[in-house]
Amino acid sequence: MNGNVDQAQCHESLNPWHIALKQLENVAGAIDLDPNVYERLRYPQRELTVAVPVRMDDGRTRVFIGYRVQHSLIRGPSKGGIRFHPAVTLDEIKALAMWMTWKCAVVNIPYGGAKGGVICDPLKLSTRELEGLSRRYATEISIIVGPTKDIPAPDLGTDNQIMAWMMDTISMHRGFSVTGVVTGKPVLLAGSRGRAGATGRGVMYTIRETYKHLGMQMKGSTVALQGFGKVGKSTALRLHETGFKVVGVTDVSGGLFDPNGIDIIALIRHVEDDGMRFIEGFRGPEFVKGAEANDRLFSMDVDVLVPAALENQITGENADSIKARVVAEGANGPTTPDADRILEEKGVFIIPDILANAGGVVVSYFEWVQDLQSFFWNEDQVNTQLENVMVNAFDEVLMIAQREKASMRMAAYMLGVGKVAAAMKLRGLYP
Ligand code: GLU
Repeated sequence: MNGNVDQAQCHESLNPWHIALKQLENVAGAIDLDPNVYERLRYPQRELTVAVPVRMDDGRTRVFIGYRVQHSLIRGPSKGGIRFHPAVTLDEIKALAMWMTWKCAVVNIPYGGAKGGVICDPLKLSTRELEGLSRRYATEISIIVGPTKDIPAPDLGTDNQIMAWMMDTISMHRGFSVTGVVTGKPVLLAGSRGRAGATGRGVMYTIRETYKHLGMQMKGSTVALQGFGKVGKSTALRLHETGFKVVGVTDVSGGLFDPNGIDIIALIRHVEDDGMRFIEGFRGPEFVKGAEANDRLFSMDVDVLVPAALENQITGENADSIKARVVAEGANGPTTPDADRILEEKGVFIIPDILANAGGVVVSYFEWVQDLQSFFWNEDQVNTQLENVMVNAFDEVLMIAQREKASMRMAAYMLGVGKVAAAMKLRGLYP
């Protein structure tokens, strides 16, 4: 019996919402958060569950379950992506919404945090079914979204076409084009230049600033990336341009490994233009199939490791195998609290998700501003403003980390949660 208890105790909870609450609890202690504010921040302001009926290609109707959670509307309308994935749960969406609240505060854009998701496998839907799902989901959540209320965007499993359908759906309801209701739209449809690769560009800026701080040289450095979706691809490309050697990449199909560096431009061509979608079948580097690929990737002797896939990838169980000097979190919540502790003891410099991957939501903010003004920027303007925002946020977090002798994650939380708490106090409690 004792054995069972020990077993239960040594396995950490991988429920993202429990993890998000734990992180909030940790920072509450560190910044002496007003207990009345803490009490309010522990709950999402609004949670909506929707049934999304879709007429499938075989003529049958299938219902998918979707969510939209608005964690906080204190600093402005809520903001955050929509995830289409079979493993979506309400607790996951709640955690992602809370993380968006802190992220928007860390990079100082005037939004609260939200997230949405639908339990589905978009790879198994036809384009027509996917459009039906996107439009009906947009209809169901339309009661709480809008350019001044809550602004969705892409996330795992969604893209600019889905954002175009959602924008069109809301616009059809209202009787005129409501461009500012979602971001991450195609450039031809009131999207922003530079949005597509913004997250990876932001990850690169935070790695560059980390390198300056640690006195390291980017040229010739090695990086391994978990995930080769929107975030993984754009991060790999930007790092490749700055002289990094990408020596390992994994996705759901497996992993590619090459100590001399993988040709990232050719690999992007393989997954995009050649329509292969996954990295499997790419010629040249060694290919390892299945879950083993990630174990190998995480234990590579590299300078930088970029988890750019899902939550809970670096855990208490595998953290000790990590040899990278820097971990830059392209994904949301890739590192569990147990792993965090282990990595900290090992002296790994972690650039936390709410800072590292904020480039996406920052350019979403620029897109929303451009939509509201009907005045569009060129790509240089977008990238320059993005760089300013990311470098300022990085400097601010680093300063707090040094002053408080805290990790970068704790410092980012101190900054983010501290700002939201201060705004909440100023607004007061209604009524
Ligand atoms: N899904 C992205 C994130 O997790 C972007 C959100 C947005 O642009 O609103 O930050």
